[in-house]
Amino acid sequence: MIIPPSLNGFYASPVAINTDKKWIIAVIAGELLVPAAVAVTGSGFGPVIDSDETDLLKFFCERRITLGQWHGRDCEVWELLPEAASTEGFKLIELRTLLMSAGDEEFSLACRAVQLLDWQDKHRFCGSCGEPNGASDSEHALQCTPCNINNYPRISPCVIVLVTKGDHCLLARNAAWPPNRYSSLAGFLEAGESAEQALHREVFEEVGIEITNLRYFGSQSWPYPGQLMLGFIADAVTDDIKIDGVEIAEADWFRYDQMPGIIAPPTIMSGRLLQQYIDDATLTYG
Ligand SMILES: [Zn+2]
Repeated sequence: MIIPPSLNGFYASPVAINTDKKWIIAVIAGELLVPAAVAVTGSGFGPVIDSDETDLLKFFCERRITLGQWHGRDCEVWELLPEAASTEGFKLIELRTLLMSAGDEEFSLACRAVQLLDWQDKHRFCGSCGEPNGASDSEHALQCTPCNINNYPRISPCVIVLVTKGDHCLLARNAAWPPNRYSSLAGFLEAGESAEQALHREVFEEVGIEITNLRYFGSQSWPYPGQLMLGFIADAVTDDIKIDGVEIAEADWFRYDQMPGIIAPPTIMSGRLLQQYIDDATLTYG
């Protein structure tokens, strides 16, 4: 199989190509069982286990799904019984922990693994007639035979935007967050909206600011659950902040070299947007 270089080695597919060795991602109740070195050092090792190292885990495997191919090998997620958590040489970690230690590719694989298991669990019955769904042989779909309906994993697009005004950018604190933790603004797309419409609406609803010159930055899968974050940078037309007081507790303009105490790391979209802005602003205003 030839994988386009732009896919960074990962090819999402429900079909195994039957390679001799495989990559395994082990999941127990939504958490990842990883080689203990990952959990202890967090030094760049990922959640992906070489199939040579999985003999001990096989006995605990309740369900397996092909995720696709990663660097030429089939990659599967195994859902393991809870007893597997105490297997020597492995440790259970939350998916979020991986954000700090794993690369993008491995985080994507782990997201896919956790999402597919979660999706199958929550779509065991047809939403139309209530009969049990069956699995498709050829694609990641759950099928209701009486209704002739295929259900696919649900992905929910969200927009996230860093609003800027010259050497300042707008950051907000969610009402549920501790003091001094700030992020860019984000929200789900409403049915029928374009990403651009959602951006204008979310920013205006949350902080009362009008925006223009929207620049698409990139996207990131975010498994809480099944979100796709679409990242943008935009210019503010107005600068008088009026917070909604419900979702947003505080919002303010921050100079590029005077960021608040707690901001997102550059492994997640919010942090990437901010880093890009800080780099650009440092060149322009520094
Ligand atoms: Zn049905």
